[in-house]
Amino acid sequence: MSSWARRPKIWEDIDEATWGSWHWQQQHRVRDLEILERILELNDEERETFLAARSRFRVAITPHYLALMDGQDPNCPLRMQAVPQSGELEIRAFELEDPLAEEAHSPCKGVTHRYPDRVLLYVSHNCPMYCRHCTRKRKVADPYTTSSRADIEAALEYIRRTPTARDVIVSGGDPLTLSDERLGEILRALRAIDHVEVIRLGTRNPVTLPQRITSQLLEILREVRPVYLHTHFNHVNELGHDARKSLLELLDAGCVLGNQMVLLKGVNDSPEAVMQLNRELLKVGCRPYYMLQADMAEGITHFRTPISKGLQIMDHLRGRIGGMGIPHFVVDLPGGGGKIELTPDYLEGKYPHPDGTRWVFRNGFGQTFDFVEPD
Ligand SMILES: *Cc1c(COP(=O)(O)O)cnc(C)c1O
Ligand code: SF4
Repeated sequence: MSSWARRPKIWEDIDEATWGSWHWQQQHRVRDLEILERILELNDEERETFLAARSRFRVAITPHYLALMDGQDPNCPLRMQAVPQSGELEIRAFELEDPLAEEAHSPCKGVTHRYPDRVLLYVSHNCPMYCRHCTRKRKVADPYTTSSRADIEAALEYIRRTPTARDVIVSGGDPLTLSDERLGEILRALRAIDHVEVIRLGTRNPVTLPQRITSQLLEILREVRPVYLHTHFNHVNELGHDARKSLLELLDAGCVLGNQMVLLKGVNDSPEAVMQLNRELLKVGCRPYYMLQADMAEGITHFRTPISKGLQIMDHLRGRIGGMGIPHFVVDLPGGGGKIELTPDYLEGKYPHPDGTRWVFRNGFGQTFDFVEPD
């Protein structure tokens, strides 16, 4: 069922073709409390938080994403990502405005170059929806910090004269906020650089605005293929008919699809939720790539899960879903330390053996096994 068939009552007169236009979806994003209240039954907390939260980090929700929510359930996993909760207003002393020190590793505006081979290029600071758990809140949605045409040209020039930049991640905000023409120029410019071996596109549009995946956009992606397209599904309810269709079309245009999920309390912090999401993603050719621990960004305490929860989820997945459905569980270290991977500890002990060493391992089901390593 497409999201149009589930559309909230205020849009009941909108026909399917209009609903399917990404321009219409963009123009009708919900930003005001009055309109939101006509769609969702808000509780007092949400109502009181809305204005204060909005002045810190813009609110915008696409009609498509709203249609996928359960309007009656305040704990709906999609609503929690889109509608400000009171936890957003709590800033803890340990939290950081720029948790990953992306500015400190910036050789020019719109670029973060932390690993020798990989360059992160920010081409837009806007997104169709502003996710309440966003790690780049400090600049996403801020019209004053967005890169200008000249900034992007300077960033491309930096990549051209940096031969170690083999892997360029086009990110934002959301790069698909740009027009096809502008995005096409950037992607073609990258493809024309000999030492750029890998082009990645980080976008949440397949989740929040799958209508953006038009045939014109697919043509551009096909032209510069392969593009590693990394998206950001956090819950299986986000993966409706329209999202599935957009992912299959992206595959067809030569994209390699990956998902970067963020562990969020109350949204997806259970082995069953992650398993279900990952199985559905595999059905449409999208491999779970990362399961990220929420960063030390400001105002996301209410979303934070203990590290042990992520490890427990990883432990559960191993043996119960094929390896392709198992993401890397990653912590992006504050201060620009980069990403590290955490795995459950499967080693129970190490003992002498007549032939060498006896390692004792456990599996994901808690059974133990001996592995003999000869001298
Ligand atoms: C996450 C990240 C990358 C990409 O890392 P991979 O582990 O290769 O996906 C590159 N640069 C920065 C600054 C990052 O934060
Ligand atoms: S789409 Fe990504 S960059 Fe944009 S608000 Fe959501 S998490 Fe942040």
